[in-house]
Amino acid sequence: MSFAKVFSPQAIARALERAEHAKAADVRAALDSGAPDAASFAALLSPQAASMLEEIAQAAHRATVARFGKTIALYAPLYLSNDCVCTCTYCGFSLGLDITRKTLRIDEVMREAQLLAGQGFRNLLLVSSEHPKLVPPSYVAQCVRETKRVAHYVALEIAAAEVPEYRQYVEAGCDGVVLYQETYDPEVYARHHQGGPKKRYAWRMDALERAAEAGVRHLGAGVLLGLADWRFDGLALIEHARYLQRHAWRSVVNVSLPRINPAAGDYTPAKPVSDAQFVQLICALRIALPMAGIVLSTRETAALRDRLVPLGITHMSAGSSTEPGGYAEPGTSGEQFHLEDVRSSVVVAHALRELGYDPVFKDWELMAASAQTQTAGV
Ligand code: SF4
Repeated sequence: MSFAKVFSPQAIARALERAEHAKAADVRAALDSGAPDAASFAALLSPQAASMLEEIAQAAHRATVARFGKTIALYAPLYLSNDCVCTCTYCGFSLGLDITRKTLRIDEVMREAQLLAGQGFRNLLLVSSEHPKLVPPSYVAQCVRETKRVAHYVALEIAAAEVPEYRQYVEAGCDGVVLYQETYDPEVYARHHQGGPKKRYAWRMDALERAAEAGVRHLGAGVLLGLADWRFDGLALIEHARYLQRHAWRSVVNVSLPRINPAAGDYTPAKPVSDAQFVQLICALRIALPMAGIVLSTRETAALRDRLVPLGITHMSAGSSTEPGGYAEPGTSGEQFHLEDVRSSVVVAHALRELGYDPVFKDWELMAASAQTQTAGV
């Protein structure tokens, strides 16, 4: 199986072109069908749908509560390294940028994990830049093995890998792999990924399938909003997630759609996404992917995050740091991007309760409550 082989950017563009002329009836047909095909999903991203946002938001809320209840899984990213051999225009870890570089020793990783465990987190996402020598698979596997001593669920957001490497991670206890395509537009992808292994667009696109083949049970797909047209990347993401649900059916699939935030290098998004467009996309994803968790990152402001919760969100990071060692010693190494929601996990959990939601720090409680998945993104 290979999504890269069947994915057609032209077909996505054609569906969006048709959706430019969608009528209210087309939007309602997409809402009523529950899990529409790609063409009808495009109607939910149309200008017509933008004028029906309140109606779409209510449908998304109903779909979320029916499937997931009022439960939000909280997790924390734990950055292992910011040493990177790749040149990605939008990232604060990009090769050549003048930041303090650091790859944590195992004892430093455990210090971070213990601090997060002390805050109640049992769901960790180990994040790393790409550096084959400083962050080899053996190191990643050891980090997974060690952090599983304090966390019940450990996922990875690291370089794309081959099946044997993913097997190594699974054997160490890895529960999930998060790997964003960033953008599905091949030309935009080539412009923004200028050096290093991440340049390989198709190879990256099939990485989650390789992870599933190796036995990874939770897969996290996603796009970085702001690089390309948000409708294009939204529709492509839904196609990819639906493909994974069909072909990697032993695994569960989550999606994430972070918006670009400032970082070292000062990248300005070429295609900024407004709050209203962001809301429309989240609602559309919920309607089109009723079984998938949707992850919301701390890149969004606290006020917006609170408003988005009822619309389809199932997973949130909280109290995050995007620098290696940033929980124990903040400010001693370069961060990947600036955070907007800097509330502690306690404050976020309190805000969720005020909204009538149950914040969940532990995997098994969430599984019992809603049978949902635990794959997440920063
Ligand atoms: S996006 Fe990933 S691979 Fe690219 S520079 Fe940043 S850390 Fe490295």
